[in-house]
Amino acid sequence: MQNIQKHMRFCSLASGSSGNCYYIEDSGYGILIDAGISTKNIKKRLKDIDVDINRLWGVLVTHNHYDHVASVGTLGEIYCIPIYSTQKILTGINEHHKITQKLYQNKRPINLGEAFQIGSFTITAFKVEHDTPECVGYYIETANSSLFIATDLGQMNDVAANYLTKAQNIVIEANYDEEMLLNGKYPLFLKQRILSNCGHMANHKTAQCLQQYFQAHWKNIFFCHLSKENNCPDAVLTCIKKALGTTPNALPILHVLPRTSAINPIEI
Ligand SMILES: [Zn+2]
Ligand SMILES: [Zn+2]
Repeated sequence: MQNIQKHMRFCSLASGSSGNCYYIEDSGYGILIDAGISTKNIKKRLKDIDVDINRLWGVLVTHNHYDHVASVGTLGEIYCIPIYSTQKILTGINEHHKITQKLYQNKRPINLGEAFQIGSFTITAFKVEHDTPECVGYYIETANSSLFIATDLGQMNDVAANYLTKAQNIVIEANYDEEMLLNGKYPLFLKQRILSNCGHMANHKTAQCLQQYFQAHWKNIFFCHLSKENNCPDAVLTCIKKALGTTPNALPILHVLPRTSAINPIEI
């Protein structure tokens, strides 16, 4: 996959509470967004798409929940891949009790709203509401494409919505079907946490948001971080199509990302 191609390529290696990891590539530069699965799995799933883990240019981290950072220390210190995130999130990673490999040399602190460059990517982090001290999404531009990614968020905010409307491609959370969650076996405190404005996005909330900010230039929408217990791809697509069905323009291509396996890379 590391040939020069015209468009950015996107590949989800894993998506959900058991681990998140997304790969993008442009003009021969490859980067990861989050590293919440084992290094072994990252290596293998990258190899399956002809990418050598040693050729990665960086990892962008969204927040310090374990399903996003499990392998970040190893990638940073053992594989010497620069790890980009806000200072608050980088500090949070090193304070995480489950992360034994801390980050020392390869931390790259970034500021919210300030664009920075990795190879041919221009990247801006923006804040989203989630139950960590800080959680960010990324707006990523290349010469021919752009991507909005927000994997864990309780609600949309104005700054994030601005990037959502600008982007040609979107990765956004569709975590749960509200009825499945309410009738499911999760304890009440957990249900309340998930339902709150700094928890996770329900299918109908994601649908509403896409309807509200709909753009005719959207090419692909990838739904990420589906709950194993409280969601299924059919529920996501039914809900989204119902909401976007009323929009006058042609629909973008809708993709539901699998929780524990990689997808075939898609040119975006
Ligand atoms: Zn998560
Ligand atoms: Zn999270």
